[in-house]
Amino acid sequence: MRRLPIHPRGADMHHPAIETDYLVVGAGAMAMAFVDTLIDASSDATVLMVDPHPLPGGHWNDAYPFVRLHQPSAWYGVASTRLDEAEPDPSGYGRGATGAEVLAYFERLMRERFLPTGRVRWFPGHQYRQGVDGSHRLVCLTTGVEQVVTVRRKRVNATHARTEVPSVRRPAYALATSVDCIAPGQLPQLQRSYAHYTVVGSGKTGMDTCLWLLDAGVPASRIRWIMPRDAWVQDRANLLTGEEHFVLSMRRTIDQFEAIAEATSLPDLWSRLEQRGVLMRLDPAVEPTSFRCAIASREEMTRLRRIHGVVRLGRLRSVERSHLVLEQGVIGAHADTLTIDCSAGGLQPAPGVPVFDGDRINLLMVSWCRPLFSAALIAQVESTVGDEAEQNALCEPVPVPERPSDWLLQWAVTLANAQRWRQSPPVEAWLKASRLNTVGVLLDGAGPVEPTHLDLLRASGAKAQAAMPNLNRLLASLSLHPPPAIREVSAGRLAHPDRVVP
Ligand SMILES: Cc1cc2nc3c(=O)[nH]c(=O)nc-3n(C[C@H](O)[C@H](O)[C@H](O)COP(=O)(O)OP(=O)(O)OC[C@H]3O[C@@H](n4cnc5c(N)ncnc54)[C@H](O)[C@@H]3O)c2cc1C
Repeated sequence: MRRLPIHPRGADMHHPAIETDYLVVGAGAMAMAFVDTLIDASSDATVLMVDPHPLPGGHWNDAYPFVRLHQPSAWYGVASTRLDEAEPDPSGYGRGATGAEVLAYFERLMRERFLPTGRVRWFPGHQYRQGVDGSHRLVCLTTGVEQVVTVRRKRVNATHARTEVPSVRRPAYALATSVDCIAPGQLPQLQRSYAHYTVVGSGKTGMDTCLWLLDAGVPASRIRWIMPRDAWVQDRANLLTGEEHFVLSMRRTIDQFEAIAEATSLPDLWSRLEQRGVLMRLDPAVEPTSFRCAIASREEMTRLRRIHGVVRLGRLRSVERSHLVLEQGVIGAHADTLTIDCSAGGLQPAPGVPVFDGDRINLLMVSWCRPLFSAALIAQVESTVGDEAEQNALCEPVPVPERPSDWLLQWAVTLANAQRWRQSPPVEAWLKASRLNTVGVLLDGAGPVEPTHLDLLRASGAKAQAAMPNLNRLLASLSLHPPPAIREVSAGRLAHPDRVVP
């Protein structure tokens, strides 16, 4: 006899259709930043948020316990509410809040700010699915019960990041059964030590894991680091906030525009940015082939350089008890080795769709390496700008960075967007008041902008403008078609990306 499912699939007769103005699919960091601004910018919009995770915060639900924000917390979070950490990073590396603090912050926002408005409904443990007839369906992952949602205004896709973290994904390489392999989150629970540790992956998770092992006292000689690609990394010192750091941060911003203006080629640009302390790399003898918005301190880089067992033989194909097979060679391995998989790709490529797309909004980055600021700005544009073409002109998607040249492409699109923000009164007014605006972040509530600060802001705007002709020339040297925004910006007046001089 065929067993029937306990709960029938399809629209459940006992659950009448739910109505909402905005259906926000995914409740990660970008969704939270979008809804936070939307409920302030619109006095009556209703929102339904859905996510399989039990708590809002997306990938932070699955993070390893020793993860912290790469940058100071003032750069992160939603517009209405600061994210504070209980105590500064004890390692002295200057990182921001812990993963647990980030998760608690989003949970508090949902409980104490969103839900009490009576305009936001939250469906944890549910997945969004579109029916073949185009209907919007929420599927309860525990019961299988489906509910139909009627969307009066728009569906907001907040899942484009497709953030991968090692705890929820199997390694993409083969593992012999006799090999011990864990996700970084399992490290603090280890019941015994190993003779050797192999960290697979050169992204930020790989860096965090190597640092965790070193900080735990594992000698650098017992760590092997599989590094398919070297990356350019931003120096955290340039992102420190508060009045005491403002001058350095602005000087570095000016330095980077000067480097763009003076560079004769892309390799020359990287070398100038490195000399001026904007970008860093692990090994000065190795040319990085990747840029992924990673941030580290000089102290962290110095500690990481103590690991000499860096393997640059391409991607890992398989791990055997006695050896590792990589794309470009085979190397021996100690039998008592723990493999730590850090190979999940945190960022996925942008999907090639516009932000405003009929009855859909795609939450994409519209500013340089700043996903949450971008999502909040998109909500402001949605609530205050009526025409879709105008909305999209204000929100040209910034490429999700992958290669070093994306560092420059991101700036080109960000500067073009910023120029248009300044010409849109509702967006400029929002930027002036928003704590997420760069100047607001850098000053971190330190009070009014002083004349010396204004001089630096003006200098930054002038340097950005002066950099544009060469920025376009450098981009044209790539065999890429520059996006339309790049052509437009060369004719326009530029300012610091989201600079608003009060
Ligand atoms: C280790 C790490 C450290 C980071 N540190 C920083 C930092 O210091 N500063 C910074 O600015 N950024 C940082 N980021 C990135 C940043 O946190 C943002 O989280 C990033 O933009 C991803 O957030 P998101 O909301 O876009 O996506 P996600 O967190 O991936 O959220 C998307 C959500 O959509 C849900 N979803 C998918 N499909 C469906 C469906 N069918 N129905 C319902 N829900 C669905 C998923 O379950 C998920 O919860 C970091 C990222 C990582 C991985």
